[in-house]
Amino acid sequence: MLHLTEYSNSATIRGLAAEIARISRRPARIMEVCGGQTHAILRHALDTLLPPHVHLLHGPGCPVCVTPGDYLDHAIAIARQPGTIITTFGDLLRVPSATHGDLFAAKARGADIRMITSPLQALDFAREQPEKQVVHLAIGFETTAPANAMLAYLARERGQRNVSLLVSQFLVPPILRHISADPANTPDAFLAAGHVCAIMGSAPYEPLARELRRPIAITGFEPADILLGVLAVIRQLEAGEARMENMYPRVVHPAGNPAAQKIMDTVFQIADREWRGLGMVPQSGLALRPEYADLDAAQRFPVSSSPVAVASNADCPAADVLLGKLEPCDCPHFGTRCTPDHPLGAPMVSPEGPCAAYYLHRHG
Ligand code: SF4
Repeated sequence: MLHLTEYSNSATIRGLAAEIARISRRPARIMEVCGGQTHAILRHALDTLLPPHVHLLHGPGCPVCVTPGDYLDHAIAIARQPGTIITTFGDLLRVPSATHGDLFAAKARGADIRMITSPLQALDFAREQPEKQVVHLAIGFETTAPANAMLAYLARERGQRNVSLLVSQFLVPPILRHISADPANTPDAFLAAGHVCAIMGSAPYEPLARELRRPIAITGFEPADILLGVLAVIRQLEAGEARMENMYPRVVHPAGNPAAQKIMDTVFQIADREWRGLGMVPQSGLALRPEYADLDAAQRFPVSSSPVAVASNADCPAADVLLGKLEPCDCPHFGTRCTPDHPLGAPMVSPEGPCAAYYLHRHG
């Protein structure tokens, strides 16, 4: 299969589904940890092509969904300060914070919050308005970390002192360990996100599969890509194996992208990180290295959240959804109190959120 369209070919997809059904004997719970894959599964109804004893679980792979409410409160508090510009990707705007609402509401009240398509745009704003402080909301997984690191690196190189980063970067392997250690919700296998592995390489997932004693298939985003990943882990489960298999070799190489890793390593170091709904997970994220501490917005703007309560999202069982314990459509608020227009929680907000995926592709 050489061309992208062949990964969406219906005969290919039916053939892969038939092969999965042919070889699959035992119940299997397979978790993808990527919002893009979650949406592809729902968009193409791939789960409905699988035998009833093979379940696809949707893990905490939506970066906006796992960004903590306290982080957003901090961002909103900074945005309220005169003379500040916040830069962010658009899908963070409507994610509820812990107490202060969301960035969209802050923007409506006059805060200068700008949607960007590249973190480096923050440098342009800083250069154009040197009297302002530009704070970039640096969130996401390994996929966004290189560009966010490049922002810090170039700000330092160019002496652009009115730029800083509020960092909430996450790493995938530690959360796979965290999930695997939960006896109440143990997937039998994982599909690893191809774009994350394009950065970090497939090599780190070989020892990880052995450590977790679970098959891991590195998987792309087209329908056939995902079914190839499912087929790979089903084969292993049936054979009692636990290996990494790279089912996305047209994009993912063993060493990944060394230049991206180098800029990440220059600017960031591994740190404990809080995941929304999941709590603090040791060594599961990135923070600015001490050499870049002067670019840390958390230190430059050490605001403390005032307890201004707004509509609570305590009713949102997002953690259970993000750990695959609860299907979005089984949430009592799905499609009633909680819709994309009136989201109760982050998984209904983000284009990568599992609740938004179910609402878009399965609701009514
Ligand atoms: S449907 Fe809404 S309330 Fe329920 S888990 Fe998803 S985001 Fe939360």
